[in-house]
Amino acid sequence: MAEEAAPHVLLICYPGQGHINPMIRLAKRIASKGLLVTCSSSSIVRDKLAAASGVSAGGDGVLVGRGRIRFDFLDDHFDGTELDLHNFLRHLETAGRLALAGLLGRQAEAGRPVACIVGNPFLPWATDVAAEAGIPSAVLWVQSCAVFSIYYHFVHGLAEFPREDDPDARFALPGLPALSVADVPSFLLASHPYKVLGDTIQDQFRNMGKASWVFVNSFAELERDVIAALPGVRPRPPQLIPVGPLVELGGHDDDGGVAVRGDLIRAADDCVGWLDAQAPRSVVYASVGSIVMLPAEAVAEMAHGLASSGRPFLWVVRPDTRALLPEGFLDAAAGRGMVVPWSPQDRVLAHAAVACFLTHCGWNSTLETIAAGVPVVAFPQWGDQCTDAKFLVDVLKMGVHLRAPLRREAVREAVEAVTTGPEAGAMLANARSWSAAARAAVAPGGSSDRHVQAFVDEVSRRAR
Ligand code: UDP
Repeated sequence: MAEEAAPHVLLICYPGQGHINPMIRLAKRIASKGLLVTCSSSSIVRDKLAAASGVSAGGDGVLVGRGRIRFDFLDDHFDGTELDLHNFLRHLETAGRLALAGLLGRQAEAGRPVACIVGNPFLPWATDVAAEAGIPSAVLWVQSCAVFSIYYHFVHGLAEFPREDDPDARFALPGLPALSVADVPSFLLASHPYKVLGDTIQDQFRNMGKASWVFVNSFAELERDVIAALPGVRPRPPQLIPVGPLVELGGHDDDGGVAVRGDLIRAADDCVGWLDAQAPRSVVYASVGSIVMLPAEAVAEMAHGLASSGRPFLWVVRPDTRALLPEGFLDAAAGRGMVVPWSPQDRVLAHAAVACFLTHCGWNSTLETIAAGVPVVAFPQWGDQCTDAKFLVDVLKMGVHLRAPLRREAVREAVEAVTTGPEAGAMLANARSWSAAARAAVAPGGSSDRHVQAFVDEVSRRAR
């Protein structure tokens, strides 16, 4: 297909790291099959993306396989950074509706009319704007199918959720293992400080039924049971179409080696050179993602735990947390440990020197470690991380739990358990077998690849 004639798909997401990464990775998969894809988000992230990842709007964009990726940000003139999530989303909607309509007009005037909008559950209004413009739309669910199911049952009042005063109680949902209160997304618990998030969760389902496709960042083989169970739930949920794992797979990635990254903090690429100098399967990689703020005591315990693990470690300590490091720690750790403000996590997890990943279990990190075949120390803090951790440890059997409040001995013991403990070999074998399944799903002809191809074919057909 000549590039000029390529149908144009607009992907738009909430301005958070855990949303931007899967959006860009889905953009690569779609573009590689010959479409023009524009990625968009609030103007709030425009400068950060430019500074950390060299992403800029306008220009010809980047060639990816047979297609092309461009960026165009919403002109929403929005600075709501001091608001809680619920109010942030409300304000984003007010500014975003107009700005998205403006963006669609801008693209049409430039000779690139948008044929389909792929929105994000945190921006349910994008579906309205698409409908008003007569454009078909899709949604990309950026958490697991399991979490989708739990939220869906919660929103529709279909299940009794466990109570916090009964930690031993279990409850069952179709296609999921028995869950305790510790395994449920914490936003659903009465005591959660951000109870307002319940409204946000409800909002994520607004308009989802109106979308022509509901994509999910997962793969059929990974969540087979819950995917099979969902169509039997009443009221019937939208059909989830797995297109993941949306992860970078090094040499196997779809962008033909072209680096289009969405980091909001510049990644310390020199840590890869540091990993090159470490022994195979020796390093503990630790990160709590882009949002979790550990309390000062936990940062100190983590520092001492990593230092006493007897292994080299690579620890992501974001700039907003660096001041919490124990005094003198960086000097003492120099040589055996490396602390960076942000890592190129995909390259780190793919590195042969990495033995295990101490992770907060955000869904992107979860899928990335699955795809890389790296066993985990699961240290969830809140939200869907709790369910993802349960899944990694008890269903996929590729790691151990580490519970708060954090103690340095527990860090050391957990690292030992996944690297040299009696179960370590089985965990590594499980991780590697899930890695093979993940790669097969996105390889040409794999289950997720076929779903992306079907979408590309349908958009192309409708655009003719
Ligand atoms: N990430 C990264 N470098 C880091 C830490 C995280 O590139 O030092 C990426 C990670 O690979 C993932 C995303 O940031 O794609 C974090 O998303 P996740 O869902 O794991 O957690 P969140 O930040 O949303 O809590």
